[in-house]
Parts: sequence; C-alpha cells; structure tokens
Amino acid sequence: MYTDCWKGGDWQVEALDGGRLRVLREGTTRGGLRSRGFVLHLAPALVRHPEGWMLVDPGLEPAWIRGEEDLEFQPPESGLRQQLAERGLEPGEIGDVVLSHLDGDHASGLYDDEAEGSLFPGARVHVQRRALDWWEHRFRSKRRVRYLHRRVFDALLACEDLVIHEGTGAPARGILLRQTDGHTPGHQVTLVGEERPLVLGGDLLSTRASFREGVVADADHDAETADRQRRELLSEPASGWFLYHGLPGRRILATRTSKETEKNR
Ligand SMILES: [Zn+2]
Repeated sequence: MYTDCWKGGDWQVEALDGGRLRVLREGTTRGGLRSRGFVLHLAPALVRHPEGWMLVDPGLEPAWIRGEEDLEFQPPESGLRQQLAERGLEPGEIGDVVLSHLDGDHASGLYDDEAEGSLFPGARVHVQRRALDWWEHRFRSKRRVRYLHRRVFDALLACEDLVIHEGTGAPARGILLRQTDGHTPGHQVTLVGEERPLVLGGDLLSTRASFREGVVADADHDAETADRQRRELLSEPASGWFLYHGLPGRRILATRTSKETEKNR
C-alpha cells in the first residue's frame, strides 16, 4: 500500500513536497534511444517522535543548482518553511535534522540562502563522520566539485549542534541511524519506530526501482556494496519504506496499514 503518511505507535512520518529535479542528459543513449534525462521528485520527511520533531533530508535549496547546466529545479508550490507553517510548526521547532548524505538534492535545503546560514538554527544536525571526510577531501583535491556547494558544506560545519556519528547513531528514542556506504561514503539510513520500523533509505532505497535485485544505479559510488546493502535492508523486518524520490502520494510503501500495526502492538 502506498501513502504519504505513516504511523507506528508514538512515531509518525509524513512526506513533504521538495519539488522536482530534472536531470538533463544530452547525447546519452539507452538501447539506441536518445535519453532526455529523468525527473527526480524530492521528499523531505517530517518525523514526529515522543521527544519532538525531526526532519530527514531537508531537500534542495534552489541556489545550489545555479550554474549547473544539466539540472533544472521546479520548486514545490509552497516552500519548506510554509509547509511547516501549515502544520503549525516553525523551523526553530525542528529539534533534529538528519542528512542521509550530502548530495545537494538531499542536504542543501539545510541552508537558508537569505540568512546565509542554517534554516534550522536550533537543530542538532546528524551526519556521518565518513561523509564529512569524503566531501572535505573532494573540496581539497578537485577544482570543481559537483552536487554540493562549498558554502552549504561550510554552513553545515558551522552548525552549533553538529552531531557526528561513526557507523550507528540514536538521535532520539526509537530512531536509529545506520551507515550504509554503497551510495556515497558516509551515507546513512534512518529507522523510525520500535519493533517493525519505517526505513528511510536515503538514496540507497529511493524509488520503487531500488527494490529490483541487481539494479545498477549509476549514481552509486560503489554499486556492488550498494546492491548488497539494499538486499540486507529489504530482508529485515520493517513496516514500510520511505522513498525519497518516490512519486507524490506514493512516497511511502507500507507493508501493513497503521490500524493493523496498532492492533498488533
Ligand atoms: Zn537523491
């Protein structure tokens, strides 16, 4: 069953609208056909847990794609700040922000271009040490780094409450972070809820296509490891999967309805 909202006990997850990113690919061919690229929907996850509110992957800050000629961004009808306001929330009430990884379509939304700093000034920001090290290395060794701007990275490093995890983390009760390096070094998935959690797979499990065995996502840094980690994740007990790049209305694939989950508690 597909949905955009999930509830398991005291934990709730709702997919917000992060807009659409079109990746243009001039001249690439697939099976002799000229590919015009593809569209990625983006879905920041708003998580309600017994201790407060959390956001997993704040999405894309439009300033991030300035100068990226093969990327076109169509912002959501209302921005992240407004979507939070519609739910009676201000950015300052988000206690924790989890970044699955630092690719701009997931992480740059942390950055408020007008304020030139974090959009969530009071939040603890959770990231894996390996992700920071990898991007630091890239910024040092390459002339041009794609998919993340230095100033977004700097704003992240400047966050007062940057929580750097090594492997696993537990940012709040019933919420676990687990490093899964296949997509990018330091990528992490988020498990929400006790017993049968909802799995927020970041870019490891980001669309329905990720469920097919042996699927090769060309954006994976280490395709073999990514495929193995997908299999492992899918074999674990879960009440569903949150698909960051899933279609609106179909961003959560729930294996049980919330009523069944309630009954079985
Ligand atoms: Zn992505």
